[in-house]
Amino acid sequence: MFDPVWLLLLLPLAAASGWYFAKRDTFNKRGSADFNLPSAYFKGLNFLLNEQPDKAIEVFIKVLEVDSDTVEMHLTLGNLFRRRGEIERATRIHQNLIARPNLSKNQRIQALYELAQDYFKAGLFDRAENLFLELADIPAHSEYALKYLSQIYEQEKEWEKAVSVLERSEKETEHDYSKIIAQYYCEMADIALAENDISSARRFVKNALAEDDQCIRATILLGEVEYREDNYADAVAAWRKIETQDPQFVSEVVDKLMDAYHRLDDEAGLESFMRTSLEKLHNRRLLVAKIKYLRGKNGKDGVERFLTDWLTENPSLTALRYLFEFKQDDGGTSAELDAIINRVLTRSDNMATEYLCHQCGFSGKSMHWHCPGCKGWTTIRPHDEEAFGVRRN
Ligand SMILES: [Zn+2]
Repeated sequence: MFDPVWLLLLLPLAAASGWYFAKRDTFNKRGSADFNLPSAYFKGLNFLLNEQPDKAIEVFIKVLEVDSDTVEMHLTLGNLFRRRGEIERATRIHQNLIARPNLSKNQRIQALYELAQDYFKAGLFDRAENLFLELADIPAHSEYALKYLSQIYEQEKEWEKAVSVLERSEKETEHDYSKIIAQYYCEMADIALAENDISSARRFVKNALAEDDQCIRATILLGEVEYREDNYADAVAAWRKIETQDPQFVSEVVDKLMDAYHRLDDEAGLESFMRTSLEKLHNRRLLVAKIKYLRGKNGKDGVERFLTDWLTENPSLTALRYLFEFKQDDGGTSAELDAIINRVLTRSDNMATEYLCHQCGFSGKSMHWHCPGCKGWTTIRPHDEEAFGVRRN
């Protein structure tokens, strides 16, 4: 059985043989017809159909040595190999093309672009980067070359280079990349925070907010910078801005936010936060934070009352787990029933999706600002199907 994808090759082949027959006379006059073009191509095609691609490549490369008017054919073939994931073969074809001295300028650029994509797909980012940098200086090719470069720098986590490439893209095209550039600055701020370099982190966060003043991640990071420098009031001010940006994300800071209120000894502030932000419990973390708060304030009885009320309105497994734990503390129901309930709740916990990408459906238990599935930026949001029993849109 041969791979039907090779049928695609028949199309350019047909064109090529038509072209050949039209030009055969010229060939004969040039004295180069001792290498018979159609028979060589059909020989090559035959090898392809018999799943002997390397032999086919040999034949096609030989044809190229005789006549470089068949460049299109080679580009098509190389492209097909790359799409099939046969990157080494694609690379060989494209390298061979570029080595031909008699390519036109456009043909050389086209071959460079193909080879750059081979390197990119093979993960040879240094080589791909060099070629895309060359292509980026050619006006007609700059847009896609810069796009690839930004992807390379994202993969290599070279965030400063990624910023400068997208800034260049913005200048050369009509596109607005400010939201992605803001994410790059947030990546830099994350690294600075991990190294405890708070002043650099602050600078990067400022740059991120200058690009996108509604950037939730930068707002979270700004609060973190203030918190690390013991500016708790500023940390609270930054984090409470999230409620207006997207209340679902309050869960990302809720524990530290409550801690900051405690450090400020600001009971009234905490109360108001509970009334406004934790009025609507968008996800499990917010529910847990509220339970923690109520327990500190009203004791176990207060929480039990809240949970019972909450459960009559919401089929929340998290609330059920807490209520169950309180009941167990009081002696529980029966050992056997306790064990069953415990098993069901644990299994549900393990299956719960906490974060979900709205672009590709990637789900997980930790927050990613850059989706590992589709590589989208800010496509993942806190999600809590489990706690409420129904999917909330
Ligand atoms: Zn995704």
